Amino acid sequence: MKILVINAGSSSLKYQLIDMDGEVLLAKGLCERIGIDGKFTYKPQVEGKAKKDAVDVAMPSHGEAIQTVLEALADPVNGVVKSMDEIDAVGHRVVHGGRAFTESCLINAERKEAIKKCFPLAPLHNPANLLGIEACEKVMPGKPQVAVFDTAFHMTMPAAAYIYAIPYAYYEDDDVRRYGFHGTSHRYVSARCRELLGNPEHSKIISCHLGNGSSLAAVVDGKVVDTTMGLGPLAGVPMGTRCGDIDATILEYLMGQHGYDMKEMMNILNKKSGVLGISGVSSDFRDLEAAAKEGNERAQLALDKFHYEVKKDIGAYAAAMGGVDAIVFTAGVGENGAGNRAAICAGLEYLGVKICPDCNAQRADEHLISTDDSPVKVFVIATNEELMIARDTKEIVSK
Ligand code: ADP
Repeated sequence: MKILVINAGSSSLKYQLIDMDGEVLLAKGLCERIGIDGKFTYKPQVEGKAKKDAVDVAMPSHGEAIQTVLEALADPVNGVVKSMDEIDAVGHRVVHGGRAFTESCLINAERKEAIKKCFPLAPLHNPANLLGIEACEKVMPGKPQVAVFDTAFHMTMPAAAYIYAIPYAYYEDDDVRRYGFHGTSHRYVSARCRELLGNPEHSKIISCHLGNGSSLAAVVDGKVVDTTMGLGPLAGVPMGTRCGDIDATILEYLMGQHGYDMKEMMNILNKKSGVLGISGVSSDFRDLEAAAKEGNERAQLALDKFHYEVKKDIGAYAAAMGGVDAIVFTAGVGENGAGNRAAICAGLEYLGVKICPDCNAQRADEHLISTDDSPVKVFVIATNEELMIARDTKEIVSK
């Protein structure tokens, strides 16, 4: 079975074609500047096929983008399938499933309406995700389409974890609660971690997805009991450009001091804050490390703040779960940032975390970075959200 995985943004669209027999990646790439001019990148993973790198292709809408992807995949010379008919189903990343979606599902008219109802909860993402779905329906009529939600894995949280301490009516009437994001990534790495632990009957895992956007999840026996992001992806630890948890009073105060309206204020908190905001240097952790090494104190402060908040949440989740068996690091910073991992874990010895510096310095898609006698196992596991989406799609269309 061959599955096309689509992650549609407002002006971009990432894709992967995966052969589920052996879970082999056949091709991946992206469409950019959709609705502007159009740039197309195609990276076949099959020997002897030529790639395309940001070539000009007119893409007035997501429909032309999907059409371009299909033509490349089935191209007689550089394609990886003989025809579009070889693609059995499409799996779509959908960011917000609201309270309606607790798991992945086959897309139909009613479920598209439910995805639309979540637009106000994720105004930047869900409309774009639906555009991707509707473009596929148009270009590939009759192909089964599956939605995989970023929020779904977190829907097992107990009420005490997801409720906000504001009037209860806002939960009942307006769906205000903690939802959490990166769920597909947390699900992939925590499941893989359980396997690496030898599939114990009980497990307490803290999954740290640290990238441009970052979140942690506490996972007991495969079910999320808490996560750091909230109603939206602005909450939790500080990120590349997002502020993470802050005192709501700051909004009122700064809006009064500077005359910002809500849109300007939110733009500052989303785009100009986080480690970029503190350092004034960059949102990229590599740049921050380089600047800190040269003596830039604010770059060091930004890193210290990030490490401190991640460490604090690890402690909080150990408390929430009554212990911890394993910690997993994933995503750009989690997978590659050995210095960041070391700084986060420093001081967690009381919790049973003993890092092996040599193991931590090594690079691999999956490896143990704690010592053999460390009571808490610490892993680096490369995330693979696309594979998770493809697996769900396969399972659902096979039913
Ligand atoms: P996104 O959240 O956009 O998917 P990624 O998971 O790709 O982002 O993470 C991007 C981040 O990973 C960047 O901020 C980059 O600084 C960081 N990163 C990549 N390689 C390294 C490295 N070797 N050391 C530290 N950070 C790194």
